[in-house]
Amino acid sequence: AVAMEATQRRQKLSSNGGASETTEEPAGQWGRAWEVDWFSLSAVILLLCTAPFLVFFFVMVCDQYQCSVSQPLVELYSGEATLRSIWDKAPSFTWTTAQIYTVWVSFQVVLYMCVPDITHKFLPGYAGGVQDGARTPAGLINKYEINGLQSWLITHALWYANAQYFHWFSPTIIFDNWIPLLWCTNLLGYAVSTFAFVKAYLFPTNAEDCKFTGNVFYNYMMGIEFNPRIGKWFDFKLFFNGRPGIVAWTLINLSYAAKQQELYGYVTNSMILVNVLQAIYVLDFFWNEAWYLKTIDICHDHFGWYLGWGDCVWLPFLYTLQGLYLVYNPVQLSTAHAAAVLLLGLVGYYIFRSTNHQKDLFRRTEGKCSIWGKKPTFIECAYRSGDGGLHHSKLMTSGFWGVARHLNYTGDLMGSLAYCAACGFGHIHPYFYIVYMTILLVHRCVRDEHRCSSKYGKDWKRYTDAVPYRLLPGIF
Ligand code: NDP
Repeated sequence: AVAMEATQRRQKLSSNGGASETTEEPAGQWGRAWEVDWFSLSAVILLLCTAPFLVFFFVMVCDQYQCSVSQPLVELYSGEATLRSIWDKAPSFTWTTAQIYTVWVSFQVVLYMCVPDITHKFLPGYAGGVQDGARTPAGLINKYEINGLQSWLITHALWYANAQYFHWFSPTIIFDNWIPLLWCTNLLGYAVSTFAFVKAYLFPTNAEDCKFTGNVFYNYMMGIEFNPRIGKWFDFKLFFNGRPGIVAWTLINLSYAAKQQELYGYVTNSMILVNVLQAIYVLDFFWNEAWYLKTIDICHDHFGWYLGWGDCVWLPFLYTLQGLYLVYNPVQLSTAHAAAVLLLGLVGYYIFRSTNHQKDLFRRTEGKCSIWGKKPTFIECAYRSGDGGLHHSKLMTSGFWGVARHLNYTGDLMGSLAYCAACGFGHIHPYFYIVYMTILLVHRCVRDEHRCSSKYGKDWKRYTDAVPYRLLPGIF
């Protein structure tokens, strides 16, 4: 019914001439796809079938093969191991771990729902509390309670207090239950994605922003509802994107460092580097949580398995592979190597943050700001939302956005490479992250540009003519 209603509305808009003179697509169709081509469908089915096994593989090889990626394949090929023997050796689900995970997720829900942000009242420059999201394709602007930094601070203060004074649990608790936790996170990831899928049919939060493609796999994976909520404030995207996964990221790394200390009596400089560089990234995320409302995950992607399962399972397990690797392979880097990794990580972070900051400043001030000491240049654009409203926007051609169209991704990739390089060159296992991030961000770049082109039409073409490269000036 919702799909029919949307189709009727699209027809009405086009018969009214509502599909703008300035944009090429009918109004409000610039979000994710309405129709699925065979390539996208094959990719979706492939991911649904392989991603859970890929996560298991990368964690299992550390548990059973000291993080050698090739060893299990060689053993399987020679008959020394079977899929069954590998599976039998993997720790199974335990109720104790299920209890730990339930306490963890519940605690994050309580922090998210019941503790309104106060940090913005005393942290200068921090934008917390109630904030507006971006305009949705249907023309809505949602409100969000931004309290991620506060949740992160409370969680880490408690972790520190436990490690130093209370000793309720060991700081290695996460590492010690890592594979049983994988089963629990999968249960939550599938439950949340399935709930969101059913909810979209039965009681969507905003039916106007639902997208049905007619393909069940695509709908399940890429989501139907744009901003599913329970009640006024429990926003699925904001909660699952940031917490429990990203709050956990730094705790998982601390648990790995504690395990190194327990096993070897010292913590390697590589482990410290990974902890510090990834903590900068995580803290940056929470410091800029309000800005994050304007990024693709929140303001363009729909909530399905890709975000639900991805945030519960993929992110905490695969974004932390470097620390896991270093528990099994305690690499001590030379000073020159450590300094080079630190430099790469910090320069990458600088480019990533400054590029994102420039766009945010430019959009917030509607171009009335200074970028690299000058008034920014930009291209005026127009687009229509699903309610037929004509809106205006600007695409900046100054600063990092004049050098390439996605230099924020380039900076992110440099940082990601630094985490991997911190693990030395003994195994390819920790380098999975840079391979994955490259695929993710190049694909995201193409996906985003396709969407922008649908949204802005000829104006987008003017922008790509003015800034011809995506990630690397002169190359790509
Ligand atoms: P961006 O922040 O680059 O946002 C892209 C959007 O910005 C476009 O859709 C368009 O939106 C607008 N835009 C594009 N060009 C311009 C311009 N010249 N001037 C003004 N606005 C412009 O992308 P993401 O949301 O994907 O990424 C945000 C950050 O998050 C990135 O730094 C990325 O590296 C990081 N990230 C990290 C991930 C991880 O797993 N570690 C995953 C995903 C992202 P509009 O419709 O408003 O015009």
